[in-house]
Amino acid sequence: MTTITPNPHSPYATATPDHRHIIDSFDRLLGAPKPGGLVPTACNALAVVPEEPLRNALVRKLPDGVCPDCIAVTRGGQPPHRPTSQCKDCGSPTGHGDLCAVCRQERHEEWWPTRCNEQAADEAGE
Ligand SMILES: [Zn+2]
Ligand SMILES: [Zn+2]
Repeated sequence: MTTITPNPHSPYATATPDHRHIIDSFDRLLGAPKPGGLVPTACNALAVVPEEPLRNALVRKLPDGVCPDCIAVTRGGQPPHRPTSQCKDCGSPTGHGDLCAVCRQERHEEWWPTRCNEQAADEAGE
């Protein structure tokens, strides 16, 4: 049985770290966008685009490890409700906690090129 690896880690991602999330519309229609970008998921959170796209997100047999909320949404369900708060940086209302999606994406873009050391440490720990 195949288990798909979760999306790459980012301190600015809001999606659950132990699942592979379906990148809304991209996985389904266009193929994944640029790997390493922080993008919205089907379950209404933010996750990093993996190197290996999740193709055929609408096929009936998905590998293990895909976010159940994302699967539910691609099958016509509603994403989980996320409480709205105010972004501490720009003040916009957001469902992504203390920072809004735009501010998280900006910070992620700055952080991503510097992540190598951290990632090497993570992999050594596994
Ligand atoms: Zn998800
Ligand atoms: Zn913001």
